[in-house]
Amino acid sequence: MTNSAETAPIRVRIAPSPTGDPHVGTAYIGLLNYVYARQRGGKFILRIEDTDRTRFVASSEQMIFDALRWVGLAWDEGPDVGGPHGPYRQSERTEIYRRHADMLLANGTAYRCFCTAEELDAVRKQQLAAKLPPRYPGTCRYLTPEQIAARQAEGRVFTIRLAVPTEGSTTFRDELRGNITFDHSNVDDQVLLKSDGFPTYHLANVVDDHLMEITDVIRAEEWISSTPKHVLLYKAFGWAAPRFWHMPLLRNIDKSKISKRKNPVSLIYYRESGYLPVALINFLGLMGGGMPADFNGGTEKFTLAEMVEHFVFTNIRLGGPVFDLTKLKWLNGEYLRAMTAEDFFTQVRTRVFGDDYIRAISALMQTRIETLAQFGDLTSFFFQDDVVPMQEVFLPKKRALEETLAFAQDQLATLEACGWTNEEMEAALKKLGEEKSWSVKENFMLLRAIVTGSTMSPPLLESMIVFGKARTLDRLRRFLDAQKKAAGGQK
Ligand code: GLU
Repeated sequence: MTNSAETAPIRVRIAPSPTGDPHVGTAYIGLLNYVYARQRGGKFILRIEDTDRTRFVASSEQMIFDALRWVGLAWDEGPDVGGPHGPYRQSERTEIYRRHADMLLANGTAYRCFCTAEELDAVRKQQLAAKLPPRYPGTCRYLTPEQIAARQAEGRVFTIRLAVPTEGSTTFRDELRGNITFDHSNVDDQVLLKSDGFPTYHLANVVDDHLMEITDVIRAEEWISSTPKHVLLYKAFGWAAPRFWHMPLLRNIDKSKISKRKNPVSLIYYRESGYLPVALINFLGLMGGGMPADFNGGTEKFTLAEMVEHFVFTNIRLGGPVFDLTKLKWLNGEYLRAMTAEDFFTQVRTRVFGDDYIRAISALMQTRIETLAQFGDLTSFFFQDDVVPMQEVFLPKKRALEETLAFAQDQLATLEACGWTNEEMEAALKKLGEEKSWSVKENFMLLRAIVTGSTMSPPLLESMIVFGKARTLDRLRRFLDAQKKAAGGQK
């Protein structure tokens, strides 16, 4: 098959799923796509992959837009800017996917599956018990037209699955790795359309990449194992596949996949914690190499425009790049120091003491002080990066250290899963307290100590709302980390 991508005008995309806070990984992949497009006079597209309704978070999409704009990665086509290939939100394209699934049913490359969740679960358990990889056993693959009609007449719901060839293998080229082959015995008959009519990631992604004329799929390496399914789908539709570039995964210092347990991963955290977009972009641009080592005298410092000019995709190293906060902080410091005094002042004035922030804090303080000079006494924690409460401050009188830290860990998990409103936080924390037999007073005092560093503060939950979810959670994680380290040190 000839690859139309070879001559077509370059079009690339990022396709984040709105499932929570915008992730640093999205900015990293966004950056690479942006640079690739700008280097080649191409288009950079933003598509929202929101078909997984169970993980959908309504506020997430706008946060993704804001965060990507904040780091300076403007897109040419997308849900909010429009373009000739819209809609760019998958939930608005379900009719398109249904039509395409029907095309595959008609040409025999997909089939209806009437198996119930319970039946599938039972098979999966058997396979796991026999130490076999979980695979669809093909129950519905060879149903006759009569059998299908009978099941439909009974009103049974069905999914649509890809009929992966039972023999042979699929090979595709990864532009950084060369050819990759997957034996079909390792590729499951993937569900393409769910029984609720929504597509799975695989179908929607391939259909959209084709209809949006994407020439190069540049995404994280965790999608390599999905690629054979995608290549089979392109074939099933009779379409040419795009080029694939799988970028190395960002890693924690211990080399595990980057996770919020070990690193802040929300872009909102970085914005609110006083990182500069130039530093973040520079840092992400260093991940995996790609810039000439001697660029800018080997200082590792470069701008987005310089990346567009000098970045070489085929120089990317595949060994997992380490997301090292110490390095990011160093870079950020370099950029802060390089500013004029006036620019630095402007940053402090807008990002540390921004009007909206001070206004919200003032509202919490007006009834609590007698002279304006006292303003700082109860509010310093709003302006600190780190607060380190002493044990005398955070440890409730009747509690041991160990159970207190376990409870703080539960508070963190509770707040992670919680909407950031007074009512939701209060209800969730009280429920936790009841479950673990912690009084409301102990519960809130511990949290107050961790977040504010003190036993006295403006109203706690309101303060946490002003301080923001990302930074509050980070404070809890840092507290727990510091306690763990201290305990390790004592041994
Ligand atoms: N929706 C996928 C994600 O959240 C897109 C992966 C891809 O680029 O194909 O990352």
